[in-house]
Amino acid sequence: MSFGIFQVPPPANEPVKSYAPGSPEKQALKAAIADMRSRTVDIPMYIGGEKIYTDKKHRLAPPHDHRHTLGYFSVGDKGHVEQAINAALGAKEMWAAMPWEHRAAIFLKAADLIAGPYRAKLNAATMLGQSKNVFQAEIDSACEIIDFLRFNVHFMQEIYRQQVASAPGIWNRLEHRPLEGFIFAVTPFNFTAIAGNLPTAPAMMGNTIVWKPAFTQIYSANVLMEVFREAGVPDGVINLIYVDGPEAGEVVFKHPDFAGLHFTGSTGVFRHLWQTIGNNLPIYKSYPRIVGETGGKDFVVAHKSADAKAVATALVRGAFEYQGQKCSAASRAYIPSNLWEEVKNYMIADLESMRMGGTEDFRNFINAVIDEKAFDKIAGYIEQAKKDAGVELVWGGNCDKSVGYFIQPTILKVEDNQYRTMVEEIFGPVLTVYVYQPELFEEVLELTDQTSPYALTGSIFAQDRYAIELASRKLQNAAGNFYINDKPTGAVVGQQPFGGARASGTNDKAGAIYNLLRWVSTRTIKETFVPPTDYRYPFMAEE
Ligand code: NAD
Repeated sequence: MSFGIFQVPPPANEPVKSYAPGSPEKQALKAAIADMRSRTVDIPMYIGGEKIYTDKKHRLAPPHDHRHTLGYFSVGDKGHVEQAINAALGAKEMWAAMPWEHRAAIFLKAADLIAGPYRAKLNAATMLGQSKNVFQAEIDSACEIIDFLRFNVHFMQEIYRQQVASAPGIWNRLEHRPLEGFIFAVTPFNFTAIAGNLPTAPAMMGNTIVWKPAFTQIYSANVLMEVFREAGVPDGVINLIYVDGPEAGEVVFKHPDFAGLHFTGSTGVFRHLWQTIGNNLPIYKSYPRIVGETGGKDFVVAHKSADAKAVATALVRGAFEYQGQKCSAASRAYIPSNLWEEVKNYMIADLESMRMGGTEDFRNFINAVIDEKAFDKIAGYIEQAKKDAGVELVWGGNCDKSVGYFIQPTILKVEDNQYRTMVEEIFGPVLTVYVYQPELFEEVLELTDQTSPYALTGSIFAQDRYAIELASRKLQNAAGNFYINDKPTGAVVGQQPFGGARASGTNDKAGAIYNLLRWVSTRTIKETFVPPTDYRYPFMAEE
């Protein structure tokens, strides 16, 4: 029962800590890393408040040091998927009935736990389990997930505030109800923040969740679950299972109470899931909501008037931070010939100064790619490029998986602007450059728009305002997040709502009100205070 119209604390972006030498945060993080490396954890699934262990254990290792064991997680099967669905459905009634300010308080508390006592632990888990350097971890597993939680609570309140007009004698009200059934949250390896956001955003709106993370993110997913439990997420509201994707899908997508998919991952998997849902449509009690943010082939276009150093810096950061494993990573660049030598030399100077290695040594800017499968795929692209005519290896190209899955940042220059590394998502530290004649700028914009099926992020670099205006217009549908004189990565919650169109997803903008609206189904209530008691209307009288 609520006796007040409450106002949630206004959200502000969590400040990024520096981790400079001697800082308390660096000390705390180093201690957390040492502690976590010294132990092996036995990670359970969480179903309805129970910790579930199975005999089938899967080893977890740092991608940059794959012989070291961080721990094991228990792999589940179809039976666990069923249990998780039942737990979610069982928890639904009480959770949905809980006044919204209590749901808000739980997730605001989760944000504060991550900002405070869990910051070092969640960052350390992300650094060790997903091979992110300290800065990449801090902006993901501290700031972004904290922002998601705080801003989403604010947007939840905005949604509940949305009401309608009432004519005299009646009161119209809108209730933004959770969906009937359960939500399936399927999360990728590359962002701890996304792994945390996909189950919590619908849960906040009163839904209950079956959450299936990527196996390579389970080390930090387990810490997130500790936070959620400590924050007071009730048993059964978020159920975390480690079941192979297709096996989990077999159960979830055949369940009549399946109400929504909250997915982030690759385009191929998303398309498959959507098709499966479509085929099973007659089974479901409602039309499931489908939200999916997927792959990218993100571009940087430089105009002849661009600042070469700014272009080079954006490319180096945009293409190689977190080893290019961001859906927003710059992976194809169109550089005019008047700037190419300068841009190239700046990039090479930067790359020569970059250290590659484990995340425990804070001097390393480049770390390992996520696993052997990713390593082999990326190395395959590079090896093929070395052999192909018309491809120049400008920088890098070395790959070594003996200790960790290390791939040197690699720049390719191609003559064929349709060469496969200009078109396909590689999801690794590979940047492909096409050098064009400056007078063909407009044609290059068309090329940028048409070359890839994706439309996630992209940047234009220019000093000439006509060029900026032309690019903004011509590339209107080529990116859901468009940058002018900035790198195409690093979207901030509450500032640059994130998501792309075309093959890149449904563009429901994670961390924005648009996303939360997908997890509610509005009920309109009309109440008449003094109802009519005579069916006759005045027009029915004859004089
Ligand atoms: P992935 O598609 O391999 O896996 C994503 C999730 O789907 C994992 O949990 C995986 O286990 C699950 N999955 C795979 N097959 C399944 C199936 N048949 N049924 C049910 N679940 C299944 O992606 P990934 O390698 O973890 O992440 C990288 C991809 O994610 C890239 O394509 C990247 O562009 C994309 N991504 C997009 C965004 C965005 O906001 N657009 C953000 C991050 C990552």
